[in-house]
Order: sequence, then structure tokens, then C-alpha cells
Amino acid sequence: MTSYKEIATPIRTKEILEKYGLSAKKSLGQNFIIDTNILSKIVTSGEITNETTVIEVGPGIGALTEQLAKRAKKVVAFEIDDRLLPVLADTLSPYPNVEIIHSDVLKVDLHAFADQYLDDASEVVLVANLPYYITTPIIMRFLESGIKMDRMVLMMQKEVASRISASPRTKAYGSLSIAVQYYMNAEVAFTVPKTVFVPQPNVESAIIKLTKKTEPDYDLKDEQLFFRLVRSAFVQRRKTLWNNLLVAFGKDEAVKGKLASALEEAEIDPKRRGETLSIEEFARLANALNQQGMDIKKAN
Ligand code: SAM
Repeated sequence: MTSYKEIATPIRTKEILEKYGLSAKKSLGQNFIIDTNILSKIVTSGEITNETTVIEVGPGIGALTEQLAKRAKKVVAFEIDDRLLPVLADTLSPYPNVEIIHSDVLKVDLHAFADQYLDDASEVVLVANLPYYITTPIIMRFLESGIKMDRMVLMMQKEVASRISASPRTKAYGSLSIAVQYYMNAEVAFTVPKTVFVPQPNVESAIIKLTKKTEPDYDLKDEQLFFRLVRSAFVQRRKTLWNNLLVAFGKDEAVKGKLASALEEAEIDPKRRGETLSIEEFARLANALNQQGMDIKKAN
């Protein structure tokens, strides 16, 4: 196909889909971007330079991949849908710095991937117009893997973007905010109208920017216990921290004593609700629980 126009235009997208007899698969969260302005805002947010190795999830027909390839040192993209492989080979043929990996990003061995692609990378940025049905698992998989990652710039459902970037004492703040902000600073970069997609999604969208925390903020004695504690504090949002902790860790007198001592040690009022605690306070409480001999096995 002659690349007389950028992929992310309504006309070229229609041509590509028609040429290959393709229609978007809803089950794979396929909503293709047809607006180059949005793409350049994404690339600018990602601070992509010729030193950057970009990981992309779900290149689709290559709209975002093309704009990334023009700026980045290299783009490696995971695509699950085999129908798109010949399309991408065609649309991205002018860009030798792009490599497509045909695989489910939730199943791929990220450490083996990092050994192969990121060993000599000076800077790594994840950029994606995510398949919305698996937004959280994708983000958490990359964060928990610990592979090199300086930034993430991700299109997602607006409501999920608000939850990820939320501050304590807001309705959107919860275990997802903490799970992500434990690793990264999070901000909503901008919101995106439905009209830039084909087909248009049913929900509002936003771009979130996550930037790696330079110093570890929290010296956790037991990371698993921290995450268990956070989840338990939000099981029933309207309940006090104390009541949620009793449900998670048990109600016998010995346990109650340890919970009360840990809360006192961490200087946290048991009558507070989980949604009022900052990540630092959760970390302090997790360490105090650890000091009391509590661990994940003692939680329900
Ligand atoms: N990047 C393109 C764009 O912006 O126009 C397409 C984005 S579309 C919202 C999501 C893409 O993710 C689709 O190409 C879809 O096939 C792909 N995808 C869905 N689930 C996936 C998975 N588990 N692993 C890898 N890619 C996946």
C-alpha cells in the first residue's frame, strides 16, 4: 500500500479495513484512532526521543505505532489478533525500527522479553491505546514484573484513569490508586472525545501518564502484607478501618490486641475509614502489623 497518507486518518483507515476485509472485533477491545492530533499529543506526553525504546500493546492497524516509530529508537508491539499481522507488515513497512510480537500480552514472559529487547535500552516507555477490557491486568502485569520502565502513557476509560490517579479522601480513591501509585506518580494528561475512534467506544476516554518514582518512598518489611492490608481496608468502604481489619485478620482477642497495638504504633485512629489513609500511612501500618508478627497467612 502506498503510504501517501498517515494511517490515522478516516479515509486511510477505511481503505485499510476494506482492503483486508476487516471489521473491528469488540471482544478484543478494538477501537482504532483516526485523529493524528490526538496521536501527536500522546507522543508528546510520552517524551519520546531517538533514545527511547517504546513498548506498545495492541498496535491494531498501526496508527499510533507509526507516530511512535517516527520519533523513537525502536518500537516493539504486542498484538494478539492474527488478522492484523499482514496489515501491520504492510502499513508499517516504511519503518524498520518497528517489531511486532504476535502474542497475548497477558501471557508473554516479560522477563524473557526484557532480556531480549531492553538490556541495552537507555529509556523504556510503555505507550498504548489499551484494550479497555483488560486495562488493569495489563498495567499491573508490567508494574509487578519489575522490568525496566521509565514512563507509561496510556489511553483508557476515563473512569479508570480517575481511579488510578485519585488522592485520598476522594470517591475514586481505592486499592487500584494505591496499587499503581505505589510504583508510579500518576496524572491524567488529557481527556479524549469518542469521535477520534472507529468504531466509537461506549465510554469516555482519557490519557494517563505514569512516571516512575525515583526513590522508593516506603521501606516495606512485607510487601504482600501491605497489599493485603490495602485490599482489606476497601472491602467495605463505609466501614471503619478497624471493622475491615477484624474481617480480614480475625476477631479473637489475641488478634484484636495485635491490631490495636499496630494502629497505635502507626499513629492511626482505628475509627478512620480506609479511604482517608495515604500510601505512607498504609505502609506504616503494614510495618507495624509485621512487627506484631502478623503476616498474609494470618489474613482471611
Ligand atoms: N493501537 C491501535 C489504535 O490506537 O488505533 C489499536 C488500539 S485497540 C483499542 C486495542 C488493540 O489491542 C487491538 O489491536 C487488539 O487486537 C489488541 N489486543 C487486545 N487484547 C490483547 C492482548 N491480550 N494482547 C495483545 N494485544 C491485544
